Amino acid sequence: MTLTPTNSGWIEVICGNMFSGKTEELIRRLRRAQIAKMSTAIFKPKIDSRFSDEHIVSHNNNRLKSYTVSITNEILELSKQHEVIGIDEVQFFDDSIIEVCKILASNNKRIIAAGLDTDYLGNPFGPMPKIMCEADYLDKLRAICIKCGNPASYTQRTTSDANQVVIGELDKYEARCRNCHRLPNN
Ligand code: ZN
Repeated sequence: MTLTPTNSGWIEVICGNMFSGKTEELIRRLRRAQIAKMSTAIFKPKIDSRFSDEHIVSHNNNRLKSYTVSITNEILELSKQHEVIGIDEVQFFDDSIIEVCKILASNNKRIIAAGLDTDYLGNPFGPMPKIMCEADYLDKLRAICIKCGNPASYTQRTTSDANQVVIGELDKYEARCRNCHRLPNN
């Protein structure tokens, strides 16, 4: 982003597959806002309890303190005194997160929302398609395919579990490119 709005809020969305560096990028942007002496608040959904309950944590162990919320309205309440609002793992919230982001942006806040755009089957994940449409600024990050080294946009599940949500890291998932991604039973 070279030019940002003045006297206005906006919505930034950082999407991509697992291991593409979404949380790392979210933390980078929030740290820069903090250096600029802006007040930040960071949220993540209750489902994601890996590593740490009170922080968002990237794969290389970068971390920032966060609130864990179970309903999106808590974000509105806890954001009141803050200027820059980070939200991680957006795919795990329900569609009400979109309205929450719009309300916050209309209250002149900068929203930075990060999440998985697709699930392990390659299908759109939760509210992500809609929030990507609502974004003023949208970045799609890619990982590196573990099989061939190409840029990777897919998340390969390496276990046979068929639930959409299976919490795990390198023990259960790999980044794969379009050619190397395999659907279950293929
Ligand atoms: Zn590949």
